[in-house]
Amino acid sequence: ESVMAGENYEDDMDAKQKSQDLAEKSALEELQEVRRSLPIYTYRDQLLKAVEEHQVLVIVGDTGSGKTTQIPQYLHEAGYTKRGKVGCTQPRRVAAMSVAARVAQEMGVKLGHEVGYSIRFEDCTSDKTVLKYMTDGMLLRELLGEPDLASYSVVIVDEAHERTLSTDILFGLVKDIARFRPDLKLLISSATMDAEKFSDYFDTAPIFSFPGRRFPVEINYTSAPEADYMDAAIVTVLTIHVREPLGDILVFFTGQEEIETAEEILKHRIRGLGTKIRELIICPIYANLPSELQAKIFEPTPEGARKVVLATNIAETSLTIDGIKYVVDPGFSKMKSYNPRTGMESLLITPISKASATQRAGRAGRTSAGKCFRLYTAFNYNNDLEENTVPEVQRTNLASVVLALKSLGIHDLINFDFMDPPPAEALVKSLELLFALGALNKLGELTKAGRRMAEFPLDPMLSKMIVVSDKYKCSDEIISIAAMLSIGGSIFYRPKDKQVHADNARMNFHTGNVGDHIALLKVYSSWKETNYSTQWCYENYIQVRSMKRARDIRDQLEGLLERVEIEISSNLNELDSVRKSIVAGFFPHTAKLQKNGSYRTVKHPQTVHIHPNSGLSQVLPRWVVYHELVLTSKEYMRQVTELKPEWLIELAPHYYQLKDVEDAASKKMPKGAGKAAM
Ligand code: ADP
Ligand code: MG
Repeated sequence: ESVMAGENYEDDMDAKQKSQDLAEKSALEELQEVRRSLPIYTYRDQLLKAVEEHQVLVIVGDTGSGKTTQIPQYLHEAGYTKRGKVGCTQPRRVAAMSVAARVAQEMGVKLGHEVGYSIRFEDCTSDKTVLKYMTDGMLLRELLGEPDLASYSVVIVDEAHERTLSTDILFGLVKDIARFRPDLKLLISSATMDAEKFSDYFDTAPIFSFPGRRFPVEINYTSAPEADYMDAAIVTVLTIHVREPLGDILVFFTGQEEIETAEEILKHRIRGLGTKIRELIICPIYANLPSELQAKIFEPTPEGARKVVLATNIAETSLTIDGIKYVVDPGFSKMKSYNPRTGMESLLITPISKASATQRAGRAGRTSAGKCFRLYTAFNYNNDLEENTVPEVQRTNLASVVLALKSLGIHDLINFDFMDPPPAEALVKSLELLFALGALNKLGELTKAGRRMAEFPLDPMLSKMIVVSDKYKCSDEIISIAAMLSIGGSIFYRPKDKQVHADNARMNFHTGNVGDHIALLKVYSSWKETNYSTQWCYENYIQVRSMKRARDIRDQLEGLLERVEIEISSNLNELDSVRKSIVAGFFPHTAKLQKNGSYRTVKHPQTVHIHPNSGLSQVLPRWVVYHELVLTSKEYMRQVTELKPEWLIELAPHYYQLKDVEDAASKKMPKGAGKAAM
């Protein structure tokens, strides 16, 4: 009987497989039809002809017209992949992943085979891969190992208008490579902005521009400025949902936290509205959203329901979601801002540019006429917004790209071919920092430590922390900390109905006021001790996904340690060695307690505070080192650890003199005096 059942089962499987194959085939055909309906399809042959005739081509077309998903496929179909890979860069990792998944689907292949993606700490490609989507930062890193990009036949620098730091540096490098590799095709692709500028920069490369399909979008402004854009956004979404005809809504927020808050409030208010209104499906999308959930935003909205997508800037031009009819634009985005005088960098919620506002509004008019609700006044728009977003190269810390360029053998940074040069001060500041970190010598040449640091796909301060841990025999602990700091998303969660439990669980890791870095280490090692148990994560209100990501990152860092010949060593009994390694990397990020409980940064005095989520926010040690500054209602230090001021002189003699840490050295504070004073 059991044999019969088995046979039947196999028959079933056979039939199932066949019908599945059929279904897949027709799905594939359907996808081909969708491909042929994209605006770019009409221009396929003209485009291929232009690529054949010119080495460098600037391609301009509306967002959603098919540039990112189609051009690499056209090139593949035309045979370019016989000579090498087609690489296509994206400024955002979610876009690289999501677009690669889509293209694999359109080509009917498994993601990671012919079509793959490569983002930091995650390589989803194989020997078979001919179409490779990757972040611009990853192509930059690939250049370190393959300076002529020999394995590529075509490089597409996509979403060029975003002007990220890595994209701008790539411009200069690929322009140079194209000169001595006439067989390499270079495509610069962008939404409709700045085409002339790109063309000028690439020695007047021809511009291939094609029209998209745009429907009129009605723009609405608020009559008075909104005090609270979160609240205004929620009210606007609900008003649209109740009053306007069907069609999906896209709302722009500045980051994950805001999106999660908005999701929670929306769910709550919808419940309050009862069953009389139609279904509203809420879809968040941001960089750290797990990929299964990312796919959800592309699922068609069921009949009679409405979808609201809560997105970061990612949905401005990188991702196109079909069916959006309404856009809600609060007018802000989170941007890095950098003060070249002090060398301090901070994340800042900033008003967007007019160019961004136009792009955002345009998202409502892709499939039919739409509406955009700007949560600011027309006066605001006309008078306060900048025309264009300042390119990142002009508002960021350059240390990491300077280190990369130095290891590529490019020494004359002042004369590097920047499309828009960074402030000279910022370049000098980054050279100074790399010198203080020991990555460069007095002549500005890469040192042995610098060469090792450049191997890590991390900020130079983090790389330094790792490289120096060799000396303190605690590389094992330090790479766990570095991995935990690199996750990007949050580690702890805090359900509304269990906040006390969650807070207690979190504070457990802070026992002994060890500081946030050591607490992260404890989280990681405790999880490891449970053999990476999911249950343990639940019990401790820890995000399983974040921990898995930390483990992945850690594995890769461990591999890199081997590559730079640093042995794994553990020194758990001497936590000060771990702290010293942190300070050896992060000494520019130090602050000293003030009488009023705030802090002042040591080198370039500025008032800062310990973030309320820090384990030390009630402890207030006298001297601290921090991972990063985040500006919200105040300038907050995130991830904070106590340090001994004399370490600064010991570990960063090029950066600190005795006078910087004087009062501690002269007054000989008794241990814990800072705490007592509070
Ligand atoms: P462009 O690069 O010109 O902005 P894209 O090639 O990104 O345009 O998009 C072309 C079409 O492909 C759009 O209609 C978009 O909705 C669709 N698309 C892209 N990625 C996905 C995906 N992951 N799932 C479903 N549709 C997608
Ligand atoms: Mg695109």
